[in-house]
Amino acid sequence: MSMRELVVLGTASQAPTRQRNHNGYVLRWDDEVILFDPGEGTQRQLLHTGVTATDLTRICVTHFHGDHCLGLPGTIQRLSLDRVPHRVAVHFPAGGAEYFARLRHATSFHETAELAVEPIEADGQRITVRGGTLEARRLRHSIETYGYRLVEPDGCRMLPERLSAYGIAGPAVGELLRVGHLDVDGRRVTRDEVSVTRPGQRFAFVMDTALCDAVYALAEHADLLVIESTFLESETALAAEAGHLTAAQAARVASESGVRKLVLTHFSQRYSDLRRFADEARQHFAGDLVIAEDLTTVPVPPRRVASAG
Ligand SMILES: [Zn+2]
Repeated sequence: MSMRELVVLGTASQAPTRQRNHNGYVLRWDDEVILFDPGEGTQRQLLHTGVTATDLTRICVTHFHGDHCLGLPGTIQRLSLDRVPHRVAVHFPAGGAEYFARLRHATSFHETAELAVEPIEADGQRITVRGGTLEARRLRHSIETYGYRLVEPDGCRMLPERLSAYGIAGPAVGELLRVGHLDVDGRRVTRDEVSVTRPGQRFAFVMDTALCDAVYALAEHADLLVIESTFLESETALAAEAGHLTAAQAARVASESGVRKLVLTHFSQRYSDLRRFADEARQHFAGDLVIAEDLTTVPVPPRRVASAG
């Protein structure tokens, strides 16, 4: 059974609080298990959620501010400690390669795990992963920062009743899929006549940015959007100055981009009552809204209904 869900490890920006650990998110996307922005305490948060180092296939870092990457040393060493047998890919802004090198070898350890180090060199860089394409977009923050989105291509689901109505079976089905049409008793049957589109799913991860075009590009038609909302609208000026978003801005992006499920996170320690984030976001976004909490799981919404070929 395939599983697609977000596991929230931590939701605090800048400094952790009694209730909120530093950032950290795991996306389970069937066999692809991606750790985003591991902040301090990531190993222990993982332990609480049941995600193991061995589960991880990929690590994505948006930028090298401490709350998004100080969990890298522990996490990377843990891969070796647990003798993770597969290569784990790591992506981060290429301009921060020096920080990555230091974090990777922050202390002495017996390195056995293999990392595939693949920095993001340019805006729009695409990486083929299991279950889709990972795309990085340059965000607007005080240092080089990339947001990520995972796009699964649309697929095709054959309709058995239509196939049998045309008398198509066995290897002919494969040929129809490959070629796009098939001649049956002098009549041409197209793939669209016997199938429906299976809509691909989209996940987007937007951290630490002022509002910019890339935020919209990443969020476009996302089934699940995880986005920072460090501040409330009352601090809009401060947010812009610091290169951050407000709950209202994040919710408007989601609404204008056709997002189905919106997950707000990366909250400033100045706010103790997060219901204010929900109240503010609700005024702009009518879809499924989640105010992220540490150690919770957010399922990717069920696949959109297939449309006729
Ligand atoms: Zn941050």
